[in-house]
Amino acid sequence: MAPRCWRHWPAWLRTRPPLARNLLSSRRPFSTQERIPQICVVGSGPAGFYTAQHLLKHHPRLHVDIFEKHLVPFGLVRFGVAPDHPEVKNVIHTFTETARSDRCAFWGNVMVGRDVTVPELQGAYHAVVLSYGAEDHQPLGIPGEELPGVLSARAFVGWYNGLPENRELAPDLSCDTAVILGQGNVALDVARVLLTYPQYLEQTDITEASLGALRQSQVKMVWIVGRRGPLQVAFTIKELREMVHLPGSRPILEPADFLGLQDRIKDAPRPRRRLTELLLRTATEMPGLEEAAHWASAPRAWGLRFFRSPQQVLPSPDGQRTAGIRLAVTKLEGVGEAARAVPTGDVEDLPCGLVVSSVGYKSRPIDPSIPFDPRRGIIPNKEGRVVGVPGLYCSGWVKRGPTGVIGTTMNDSFLTGQALIQDLQGGLLPSGPRPGYTTIEALLGSRGVQPVSFSDWEKLDAEEVSRGQHAGKPREKLTDPQEMLRLLGR
Ligand SMILES: Cc1cc2nc3c(=O)[nH]c(=O)nc-3n(C[C@H](O)[C@H](O)[C@H](O)COP(=O)(O)OP(=O)(O)OC[C@H]3O[C@@H](n4cnc5c(N)ncnc54)[C@H](O)[C@@H]3O)c2cc1C
Repeated sequence: MAPRCWRHWPAWLRTRPPLARNLLSSRRPFSTQERIPQICVVGSGPAGFYTAQHLLKHHPRLHVDIFEKHLVPFGLVRFGVAPDHPEVKNVIHTFTETARSDRCAFWGNVMVGRDVTVPELQGAYHAVVLSYGAEDHQPLGIPGEELPGVLSARAFVGWYNGLPENRELAPDLSCDTAVILGQGNVALDVARVLLTYPQYLEQTDITEASLGALRQSQVKMVWIVGRRGPLQVAFTIKELREMVHLPGSRPILEPADFLGLQDRIKDAPRPRRRLTELLLRTATEMPGLEEAAHWASAPRAWGLRFFRSPQQVLPSPDGQRTAGIRLAVTKLEGVGEAARAVPTGDVEDLPCGLVVSSVGYKSRPIDPSIPFDPRRGIIPNKEGRVVGVPGLYCSGWVKRGPTGVIGTTMNDSFLTGQALIQDLQGGLLPSGPRPGYTTIEALLGSRGVQPVSFSDWEKLDAEEVSRGQHAGKPREKLTDPQEMLRLLGR
């Protein structure tokens, strides 16, 4: 039998004799509400908002509820993107337009999996989209990882961006050398924040507490360490260029690491070629007069160390904190992006007081009933349709893994939205009305959960902007959920 879809309701009614139809309609009028597909999205980062935007744009009636575990929306746009990249955060304007639609509602302070389960959402909505990102970090899995002075990039980034769970991190910046493990854009964000003069950060939305700690920081040297070579770095040219021109810092690159690369990049894709050319120029060419003067007087420095894999965090003599890191020297097997680093047997010790591990984010399973691929850290899916679970979809980092920028996330979220609309129109989603938020609101109320709406967020937003104005910055982020609830009169 062909699946019944909510769109077939009028046909179902038409098959009844006129009297029955009248009786039915007099008892339970065929309301517009019943023809409204109820969709719920879990997570209010770029994936959640772009999926919602696509759904609202391509269907005239459906309603979207976005559930978010934090009191505030926007995911990594708020808690990940570096404070000195305000232009990236402009996507918030588009997300705000979506949230203000009268067919969309934002419900913050609701952690799916704890306050309400995915099966409960599946019961209340025609379709559920999981867009809850990648919130864990990949552990290094080496001895000494637990020592004070070792942090994940995720926690460090959360700290300077006001993520409530990291606001008390208080990293010890009294050492002169920091090592960042990993060579992606997040690693460069962390290096840049560590080395940027605080007066440049004062005009950003970085939290006051982290700015205070960065003002006291003694860190002068940052090593950015990768297992593989210059042809495999994962950062992009914009972020590298920012490092090369960072006021008060000079790059330390070993020319020998770049020997012979010029010939090997001739046929590489353009972004990789341009990136490698910039690395090559920085490592091997004499800088211009202005740059040379800048580098000569720079009190801070950063460097890239290639072919080094972390083996052990070395403790201080009293065993109380980090004093360095032991790196295994590696060589490459294979070529290009797919080349593998294998140890040569040599090791090198690099003294440092801070180790920031930036080897990737990781999604976690949200509910035992939902398929999850622990190896790839994603929900198995075909074009956003969760494999084996009709009516369940995913988008963003939990769909394709924790790589790619907001633009990439936008494209894949639009594809998920497209798949959902196709299924809706093809009659593949449950027929008949679904209660949507009405049921979930009652459930949450019975569990003592107090969701916050988008207009609540707009009050907090206004408060942050007003506090920022006093401090001469775009906003002063609220980081304490209790204070936020108090401000909302809860
Ligand atoms: C440090 C860092 C810096 C970055 N900088 C840039 C940049 O400058 N430019 C750029 O284009 N891209 C940048 N990116 C990439 C960009 O942030 C991602 O592509 C994008 O945020 C992924 O979107 P997402 O919605 O899948 O995940 P997220 O943005 O992580 O959103 C997931 C949302 O789900 C919520 N959530 C999680 N679990 C639950 C739950 N159980 N219940 C309810 N809600 C839940 C989270 O709180 C979060 O709000 C950066 C990424 C990082 C990590």
